[in-house]
Amino acid sequence: MVDPTSDLGEDVDEADAPECEHCGAKIVQSPTHRVVTWVEGGAVESTHFCSAECRDAYDQ
Ligand SMILES: [Zn+2]
Repeated sequence: MVDPTSDLGEDVDEADAPECEHCGAKIVQSPTHRVVTWVEGGAVESTHFCSAECRDAYDQ
């Protein structure tokens, strides 16, 4: 159930959670969550990773 009054994504449904771009894991309330953002064609794009290890692995 989504409570529209809850603060800043504290209760993210698993269905709405981003997936790690490297390993595909759902990222829910992960303290190791990493987001990489960049600008492409004037739009801000972002990619999510479940951990710094996945972020590093994806870069290589
Ligand atoms: Zn991952």
